[in-house]
Amino acid sequence: AAKTDGRNCLRYFTKSMEEKVQKKLSLNKELRNALAKSEFWVAYQPIINLASGKVHKAESLLRWEHPELGNIPPIDFIPICEEYGLIASIGNWVFEQASLQTAVWRNTLDPNFQTSINVSPAQFKSDRTYHKNWLSHLDNINLDPQSIAIEITEGLLMEMSSHTTAQLDAFDAAGIEISLDDFGTGYSSLAYLQKFHIHYLKIDQSFIENLTLDSDNMVLCEAMIVLAHRLGVEVIAEGIETQKQRDLLLSINCDYGQGYLFSKPLTANEFETFVLNKHA
Ligand code: C2E
Ligand code: MG
Ligand code: MG
Ligand code: MG
Repeated sequence: AAKTDGRNCLRYFTKSMEEKVQKKLSLNKELRNALAKSEFWVAYQPIINLASGKVHKAESLLRWEHPELGNIPPIDFIPICEEYGLIASIGNWVFEQASLQTAVWRNTLDPNFQTSINVSPAQFKSDRTYHKNWLSHLDNINLDPQSIAIEITEGLLMEMSSHTTAQLDAFDAAGIEISLDDFGTGYSSLAYLQKFHIHYLKIDQSFIENLTLDSDNMVLCEAMIVLAHRLGVEVIAEGIETQKQRDLLLSINCDYGQGYLFSKPLTANEFETFVLNKHA
């Protein structure tokens, strides 16, 4: 009946909008307590050197284990954290966890191990001195800033605010590396690679999905890789799920890959086992 009755349709629509708002408000409330209640944990996804098959890097990914709803994906709660002013404290927590873990892995797995951390644009804006706290935290735990890469998106660079530029420059000067995430979506411009000191470009998984030898995506990936390399930037492909995608990317000199073909995001313990097996 809803299909033919316009008014009913509208009513259903309104109801579901209302449900969405309700859901958001209740998640917001629960998010405020989630840190204190230790409902968050950090997963690590291996980043594979495509030529050698070795793992010297990982991306840290936030996980929220809700007591009743189970695992809530970041795409459902990160925007709420951003909207309600929670992202800076949660971002700081992820950074602390990931840097402590990296210090351990530099001792046990690989002296050059590096972990990348996703940083929300809202973190840069809501706390203009957060980078100083991060750098002094690294100093306190005696961790080389090169152990850390921060993943930012083009949206942040597009705004070109002087604060953001100063924050990125401070990270760069200290030795933290900068990775441009989800590249190719949004208002991508290769000019960013030149304007800012970017170390890694992450090709968005939407380009990897339909990769074949003669596809437009293959041409685009190859062009991105050639240009990045000419500018001294290394390339990481996101969302590699098949051996064929991996082979095609290696054939166009893509440096690193990440995706379910190699591994899903793992707990710290699982990650260690994964790397030890791989390097055995
Ligand atoms: P992202 O930074 O682009 O992270 C990559 C996403 O792709 C992750 O989703 C990862 O689990 C997923 N992925 C990896 N390999 C594959 C694959 O082969 N196939 C498919 N279909 N997906 C794959 P996840 O963990 O759900 O995170 C989603 C987004 O949430 C991230 O995208 C990032 O933007 C945000 N996020 C996650 N953790 C944090 C965090 O600690 N802080 C902030 N600010 N954002 C975060
Ligand atoms: Mg990322
Ligand atoms: Mg990405
Ligand atoms: Mg993404």
